[in-house]
Amino acid sequence: MKKLALHWQILIGMAAGVVFALLMTNFSWGAEFIGDWIKPFGNIFINALKLIAVPLILASLIKGISDLKDISKLSKMGTRTIAIYIVTTVIAVSIGLGMVNLIKPGNAISEDTRNELITSYEGDASVRIADAAKQKEAGPLQALEDIVPSNIFAAAGDNANMLQVIFFAIFFGIGLILIPEETAKPVKAFFDGFNEVILKLIDIIMLAAPYGVFALLAALVVESPSADLFQALALYAVTVLAGLILMIGVYLLIVWIFTGRNPAFFENGIAPAQLLAFSTSSSAATLPVTMERVEEHLGVEEEVASFVLPIGATINMDGTSLYQAVAAVFIAQAFGMDLTFGAQLGIIATATLASIGSAAVPGAGMVMLVIVLAQAGIPEAGLALIFAVDRPLDMCRTSVNVTGDAAVSMIVAKSVDRLGEPHAKEWDDNLKKTGS
Ligand code: ASP
Repeated sequence: MKKLALHWQILIGMAAGVVFALLMTNFSWGAEFIGDWIKPFGNIFINALKLIAVPLILASLIKGISDLKDISKLSKMGTRTIAIYIVTTVIAVSIGLGMVNLIKPGNAISEDTRNELITSYEGDASVRIADAAKQKEAGPLQALEDIVPSNIFAAAGDNANMLQVIFFAIFFGIGLILIPEETAKPVKAFFDGFNEVILKLIDIIMLAAPYGVFALLAALVVESPSADLFQALALYAVTVLAGLILMIGVYLLIVWIFTGRNPAFFENGIAPAQLLAFSTSSSAATLPVTMERVEEHLGVEEEVASFVLPIGATINMDGTSLYQAVAAVFIAQAFGMDLTFGAQLGIIATATLASIGSAAVPGAGMVMLVIVLAQAGIPEAGLALIFAVDRPLDMCRTSVNVTGDAAVSMIVAKSVDRLGEPHAKEWDDNLKKTGS
């Protein structure tokens, strides 16, 4: 019997998690049961994914760069990647601004609701504002300074330092290209083998994905706040969602135009990563799966995927920047402020930079939103307005972030002639020994 495609298995897991949690809420002990006995399995699943992110970046990027054999190819790929990432982010922010100006969700918020939301979420908002203040104190070149680690083990010891690990891997890969081939051979062979092992580990972890997402969604449902305040924010949520859906349309279109691959091909290939991003709210945790799907199911060669995707997971967050644009203008509208055209252009610039600076973890986009608000002169306290619906929107925007990285990797691959045919492995074969 043919096994159900992975994305269907994950979707069933997600739906079952939601239904299970809704049933459990009928019992007084239901939420506690899920917290004690179900949620830990979701955490174990996310931890397992995060566990392999750093070794995966190291092994695949070093292998990928050294396979390029030529530094000029690297700089060509690097400039294209960064340029396309910036273009897609600007498109995303513009879509967000267009949507929020069209729908005007902030005007639907009455003063009473506004005050109620602010008092309910004041505390949560001030934590985010304090987090953002720490980041704001940094000088203009701090971000650049932070890319170069002073100790690789310290860098690899913290998943928040992904860019530092990427820097080291690229640097190491360049060294490997420049030394004589004979000397480089054993080092390359080591990383080749290491990389294969990590890819296998991803396969094994993905066998647990339907159960992992079951646990994650069940825990989310019992932890979500009451639905009353959701209603007031429905129009705002719809605005963000409409923008995100439009952005997915943009990706499908540009992939089609630039690579000739049709939307169904792209969606079939990337769907499991999208669903996982949705369930975990973290592009970093999803990265191993994004890489595997893009290479094996979308046909992007490893040299490109291993370079474009880890960088994308950290700096390319189109969903996040779109959300930041909508949220900033929504808060301004709710406070009765009129934003000038100039102020909105400023939002494009800061939301683009803020999404680059956001960490690829749950809720990071909201911290950086504080900076967008401050720059546009919108009251930071307004953050409390959007708190109630932030988690579900985080899930959706993370899914878009991951889709954007995958789309750009295909376009870059095509432009450097590294887009081949998919070579998907059978998921059922995962635990069998391959290649013997
Ligand atoms: N959770 C998002 C991500 O990991 C970042 C954010 O928008 O909060 O991609």
